[in-house]
Amino acid sequence: MRQGNKASPARALERALHRLEDLCRERGQRLTRPRRAVLAKLLTAGRALSAYELLDLLRPEDGKSTAASVYRTLDFLMALGIVHRLESTRSFVLCEHPGGPHWVQFLICRRCGQVVEAEDERIAAATERLGQRLGFALDQRIVELTGVCEGCRGSAARH
Ligand SMILES: [Zn+2]
Ligand SMILES: [Zn+2]
Repeated sequence: MRQGNKASPARALERALHRLEDLCRERGQRLTRPRRAVLAKLLTAGRALSAYELLDLLRPEDGKSTAASVYRTLDFLMALGIVHRLESTRSFVLCEHPGGPHWVQFLICRRCGQVVEAEDERIAAATERLGQRLGFALDQRIVELTGVCEGCRGSAARH
């Protein structure tokens, strides 16, 4: 998730959490405290986190957190379409436009870990056609692209 918000980070966090809370309610689900805590960590990090990074962040606040409970929470949030799993880095990132199932492309910076979620319909359509051509019924069409982001390329150029 990009951090373009210049407002107070705490207020921006509360607003983002409220939005996600509404989204859960619309689906008849509750944003319980552990779920809220995971979302808050992902929002604050502004990048993808592994389950164990999340666990390290959660433990000081909730000693009852375990890897299993973190994975359960992440499964729930993924089923709601609020969180995506990045296969290439085995980490989890907040969806930039949660709402429904969508086949997106992730651009992942391997220096700073920044993740940008893009939704290019041509790529989504191309993957569908590719599957058809090769006789595959695709159930996962998310594309992960790795490289170096603009910010990291800029800082490398200055050195
Ligand atoms: Zn998404
Ligand atoms: Zn970067």
